[in-house]
Amino acid sequence: MLHPGASRPEASRGRRYAEAPAPTRNEFQRDRDRIVHSTAFRRLVYKTQVFLNHEGDLFRTRMTHSLEVAQIGRSIARSVGLHEDLVEAIALAHDLGHTPFGHAGQDALNECLLDARPDGNGFEHNLQSLRVVDKLEERYPAFDGLNLSFETREGILKHCSRRNAERLVAAEPGGVGQRFLDRTQPSLEAQLCNLADEIAYNAHDIDDGVRSGLLTLQQLREVELFASLERETITQFPDLAGRRLLFEVIRRMLSQQIYDVIDHIGIALADAAPRSADEVRGLPPLVAFSESMRRRTLELKRFLRHNLYRHAQVIDTTGRAKQVIRELFPAYLANPAEWPGRQAAHGANPRRVADYIAGMTDRFALREHQRLTGRTLFAPMP
Ligand code: MG
Repeated sequence: MLHPGASRPEASRGRRYAEAPAPTRNEFQRDRDRIVHSTAFRRLVYKTQVFLNHEGDLFRTRMTHSLEVAQIGRSIARSVGLHEDLVEAIALAHDLGHTPFGHAGQDALNECLLDARPDGNGFEHNLQSLRVVDKLEERYPAFDGLNLSFETREGILKHCSRRNAERLVAAEPGGVGQRFLDRTQPSLEAQLCNLADEIAYNAHDIDDGVRSGLLTLQQLREVELFASLERETITQFPDLAGRRLLFEVIRRMLSQQIYDVIDHIGIALADAAPRSADEVRGLPPLVAFSESMRRRTLELKRFLRHNLYRHAQVIDTTGRAKQVIRELFPAYLANPAEWPGRQAAHGANPRRVADYIAGMTDRFALREHQRLTGRTLFAPMP
């Protein structure tokens, strides 16, 4: 029941290194399986988004976040006739390039790289996700990376600066960097993963925010999307309170956003009526919230930025996390002997140091920092 504008594995633009088809799986399933078996994927268990991995066992990690994105994306894909396997592959891979300590780690690593090479490229997690699947995974005898299909790689490279796109296109003419120069769209499945990512973190950051004690239900009532669904829930279950009330409101928030996107995609596809996945690339974005839902989710995002991501306690943690990265970087650069075999043999250039640090889990980065500097920036892990 695929929509004509959906991606089709048999019409894939292929892999960088040609491979014989798999006997039982389509090309997108094969990508998904390669991602699930990768080292970078397993490390997502110990990498975080907002809260550090050792702050508690119940907070989201990049792994559970990626699973939630895949779940939301697949539900929507199935309803509107997009290719579920491609959505799943992109969703599971979309955060593979994230550093330890979430965005704080990325910012610090970017500063380190730009300091080391003022004329060079910094660090950007989307580009790093692509680098992980194209280069850094070492699992196959004939090539570096996972040799994923064009469509999965296109979805992984969600953003890209013009400068980086030019560099990518020089190495791979007409490849995944091209659309940032042509200003065209990616596949519908890739567009969907971006939105599923947003839906997932808006919901789970509320949950984790309340669990951590940094957000209260009272504060959340400032947000119309939350407040309206809480009123609706209480009308139906007047005695509901505490965590079960919170879970029910979040559940309704997720459903409302998912149904909104399904309706909106249905309308957009009927209007634009693309006849192929390639035609979709030349159209404006077709996967989006309705205008009223977009406004409500923007309000929620603003609320989270203000009250959670910029909470004094989060700022304090991310400040120390940045310091860990800023101190690890020069330590490795000065002492290639401090890091494992293969990279050291190639000499410690700043990009290799960045690849090594970016691959670390939160806890490994903390341990390494302690070992190399003799100092403890975070209380010992429980
Ligand atoms: Mg994400």
